[in-house]
Amino acid sequence: MTDSTGTDAVTTRTTRTTSASDPSPREEPDGPDRLTERLARLVSALTLQQKVRLLTGATTWSTHPEPAIGLRPIVMSDGPAGIRGTTWDERDASATIPSGSAVAASWDPALAHRLGVLFAAEARAKDVDLVLAPTVNLHRTPLGGRHFECYSEDPVLTGAIAEGFVRGLQDHGVGACVKHVVANDSELERTTTSNLVDERTLRELYLAPFEHLAATVGPWSWMAAYNGVNGTTMTEHPLLDDILKDGWGSDALVVSDWFAITSVRSSALAGLDLAMPGPEGPWATGLLEAVRSGNVPESRLDDKILRLLRLAHRVGALEASGGPAPAPPPSFTPAEVDTLTREAAAAGFVLVKNDAVLPLATESLRTLAVIGPNARIGRILGGGSATVFPRTIVHPLDGLRAAVPDTEVRYARGASTGDRVPLLDLALVALPSGERGAVHLTYRDTGGTVLAEEVRSAATFTWTGGDLVPGVPLSAVDTVTIAFDLVADTPGRHLVSASGVGTFTLSVGGRKAHLEQLSPDAGADFVATLIAPPQLTPVPVHLEPGLRVPVKIVIRRGPEDREQLLAFQINAERPTGTDDEIAEAGALAAECDACVVVVGTTEQVESEGFDRTSLALPGRQDDLVRAVLRANPNTVVVVNAGGPVLLPWLDQARAVLLTWFPGQQMGNALADVLTGAVEPGGRMPTTWGRPETVIVPNNVPTDGTLVYDEGLDIGYRAYRRRGVEPAVPFGHGLGYTTWAWQEATVEGRQVTARLVNTGAREGRQVIQVYVSRPDSAVVRPPLWLAAFAGVRAGPGETAEVTLDLPQRAFEHWDPATGGWALESGRFLVHIGTSSADLPTCLPIEIGRETGAAATAPANGELS
Ligand code: BGC
Repeated sequence: MTDSTGTDAVTTRTTRTTSASDPSPREEPDGPDRLTERLARLVSALTLQQKVRLLTGATTWSTHPEPAIGLRPIVMSDGPAGIRGTTWDERDASATIPSGSAVAASWDPALAHRLGVLFAAEARAKDVDLVLAPTVNLHRTPLGGRHFECYSEDPVLTGAIAEGFVRGLQDHGVGACVKHVVANDSELERTTTSNLVDERTLRELYLAPFEHLAATVGPWSWMAAYNGVNGTTMTEHPLLDDILKDGWGSDALVVSDWFAITSVRSSALAGLDLAMPGPEGPWATGLLEAVRSGNVPESRLDDKILRLLRLAHRVGALEASGGPAPAPPPSFTPAEVDTLTREAAAAGFVLVKNDAVLPLATESLRTLAVIGPNARIGRILGGGSATVFPRTIVHPLDGLRAAVPDTEVRYARGASTGDRVPLLDLALVALPSGERGAVHLTYRDTGGTVLAEEVRSAATFTWTGGDLVPGVPLSAVDTVTIAFDLVADTPGRHLVSASGVGTFTLSVGGRKAHLEQLSPDAGADFVATLIAPPQLTPVPVHLEPGLRVPVKIVIRRGPEDREQLLAFQINAERPTGTDDEIAEAGALAAECDACVVVVGTTEQVESEGFDRTSLALPGRQDDLVRAVLRANPNTVVVVNAGGPVLLPWLDQARAVLLTWFPGQQMGNALADVLTGAVEPGGRMPTTWGRPETVIVPNNVPTDGTLVYDEGLDIGYRAYRRRGVEPAVPFGHGLGYTTWAWQEATVEGRQVTARLVNTGAREGRQVIQVYVSRPDSAVVRPPLWLAAFAGVRAGPGETAEVTLDLPQRAFEHWDPATGGWALESGRFLVHIGTSSADLPTCLPIEIGRETGAAATAPANGELS
């Protein structure tokens, strides 16, 4: 492509960004060099054996201590939705915040910062030093299994949200392990696939959020991904050294994703610093010998240990390492956690359309139909390593019932979400003692001796190594017996089942119903087996409300993985979806003044370890939505999905609200927004396509390789390039007030925008600034996000914002010189409130700024 302006040279600038621009609160008062000197002295005090030992984890979640130098274990925990801690157990519950896509939908880095502070408090309360979050991979394909966990399809939005979060965490002495470096954007064959990504795309898209963090907040740790990039697996990749450490000057520790290391020499010679988990692993077995035989220089280990000690110093795990102790995080009462998570959930809800349905007219609302599988049991977080056990959950139906006490709220499920029997709802169980919501477990060894017994309030159970209970190693457990009474609340045919790996015996009502061997699919991902384990053929049982039926499940474990994993689920379903169920829901909707239908995805659809195979809502939920919309036009459709789903009924719906996976206060936040107590604050962090034209970059590797052949054009850039109208554009979202532009100007590199709130209530608007380059000398996306800011104003008030457009917004990566390049000349600046609503377009001269202001005339009303 030639530059038709003819005059504009392309100049190249190679940047070396230094680590944290703000000093970390745990840096040495005398400066980082003195600290490094002191840490280096500690390194040299260690023997080779001591060093090797430190470089593989001691357990699944912690590193080895080294008393000789005053080092205690560094404790780690997943993950982006909460601090799970070192167990996988509902008794170690967590504050559960909205998932990644929901937090990013707030377009509010200050909110992400407050959530980071909450994480720091939770981490400290659980003795956790390093949080395996945030996940800053991009929404390359809507099918990505961990879409819900990542922030956005855009690197600028991702970087800004992650910066707020990491700052909140690290300001209080808890480290962030930013993951997964790099291009871990889908889950299919994730441990073996090599993603083929051209250098420019890697720099401008997939590395960009990581680079932003290195340049601003300086994360204390990075996680190297499972996948490979351009033929080299990430735990051995030269970019860990060349880009992260040398290029960006990061002094952080590079941790492997769990079990990701498959070599000794290649990974040890690369920039990988710590092998997780432990105590076994390739480095534990082979690193000492590799150094002794001269295959890995000891100096390479020294740098790794130095980084480990620097992290230990920062989190307070190294005695007498100097500097002030980390500032302790503020403490949060349960009520404060509820308030913050409730606010955060609503801040991410995206109101896609609203034809005078919302807020609900609660004063005159006599009857409200609440319909849908996710209305009774909302999906508040995604599956996989992001799983935490919420301390409390407010589901949509409960939140709505509490919010409109004078309205008769009537519920119908309407449809099931798929073929698999869902997790047992604890509202349906009791123990013979009468205790509700609990099940009894007995663990025995091969001789039948009872090792442990417990009463648990859970339907899913997981151990990832260590002891079952203190003093009883996981490997000793041969059988698990689960016993409880099923107590129905709905008449009809229930299904009972169980899932896991081993030989299962299921008895219902005293009759031995089943003996079945369950094994994982050949080649199945470890985490996928954990999240959606093989399931027993369900047993039907007819129940009447109040009737109790004893259920007993015995699981005999197979020989595999006895030390590393024990995971099983109890599954049960109330009377299931039929045409009648949909018709019944339609009839209920028709009888009520208004209707809220809550549909969404399941753990079997959106989770870690596998990608989605369809973007449709699972089960017959689309039929349900259509039936409800036909029955009652005064309906709001609430979509509870972490990633994009198709909305084939969008044109028929008058009001559609997306909640993502919104965390523990889902029901209260939903009630706040539906009743108008709070404005829905979200803007799309990613594009949702229409059924006929949705753009889905390929996520299926061929012969172990996945080609990122769409290059720089993902998400809104691709829709724009192809002239395709999405169902819900990137950046879009409505509130409860209206706005009008007063002025938008560009002066130098600064954009100033002024908006007036023309509605009757206070509101927040997100000003978005995109850049494009007509007649560019290099291929570029059609437009790209450069900066954004949220503004608030009361009725009649004007809000003004001034945004600096960073140099990087105008640069492109030049593979020929291996640096950032600036094509001087005329770019266009597009200012608006969504990627599809950019009423102001102004020229900006880059590389030869005159300082002259460009001003746009006032534009019309915004909705
Ligand atoms: C995930 C990581 C996670 C780790 C520990 C891996 O399977 O990819 O994101 O932090 O497990 O749970």
